[in-house]
Amino acid sequence: MPREAKEARAARTQRIIARLQKAYPDAHCELNFPNPLELLIATILSAQCTDKRVNLVTADLFKKYPSAAAYASAPAAELEQAIKSTGFFRNKTRSIITCCQAIVEKHGGEVPHSLAELIELGGVGRKTANVVLGNAFHLESGVVVDTHVARLSQRLGLTREKDPAKIEQVLMGLVPRDQWTMFSHWLIWHGRRRCFARNPDCPGCEVLSLCPRIGVIRRVSSVQPASST
Ligand code: SF4
Repeated sequence: MPREAKEARAARTQRIIARLQKAYPDAHCELNFPNPLELLIATILSAQCTDKRVNLVTADLFKKYPSAAAYASAPAAELEQAIKSTGFFRNKTRSIITCCQAIVEKHGGEVPHSLAELIELGGVGRKTANVVLGNAFHLESGVVVDTHVARLSQRLGLTREKDPAKIEQVLMGLVPRDQWTMFSHWLIWHGRRRCFARNPDCPGCEVLSLCPRIGVIRRVSSVQPASST
């Protein structure tokens, strides 16, 4: 693919956004969360786990631990058991207890709503912080880059970066700030419903004419990839 000027890439990104917005008018965070604390817990649990599984686990978990103080004082073995089916449960338990202890000690039991304060909690990375800020507080602090966003950003030719932090910086430069949270949802929804990791449905894809399909094996000869602009 010939190099595309940033202005042209930003304009193409806008056209991609318009089509994805039309394809997924109801796109939203698929984790169930009644409040910011519970979105924080659900997002920690969602690492290497499906949202569906997390929602099954949190249906009981949220009743058992109704506050940051409840998680902060939970016996680790008990919490591990409760979240075991989400995988990596020892690390996740450590993260939940660590961040909830900090929420209780430094923030009076309330989840803080700035990126710096969230990351300082311990056990919370930039991606998790962005999910909480964008979806629970409606603050545009960054673009959430998960496995779908990383894969689609590369296939769509928006970036050649592989590191999530670098991908995020590129996307923040291409996407208008008031769309950072939704852009991530649109790509995640498209990644789950069309642009699958193994067999992307390019013939049926809403953004085919805008996509250079970087790294996609051409399985269907009739599919015409987009030019670079
Ligand atoms: S055209 Fe193919 S590679 Fe590009 S976004 Fe659509 S499904 Fe993914």
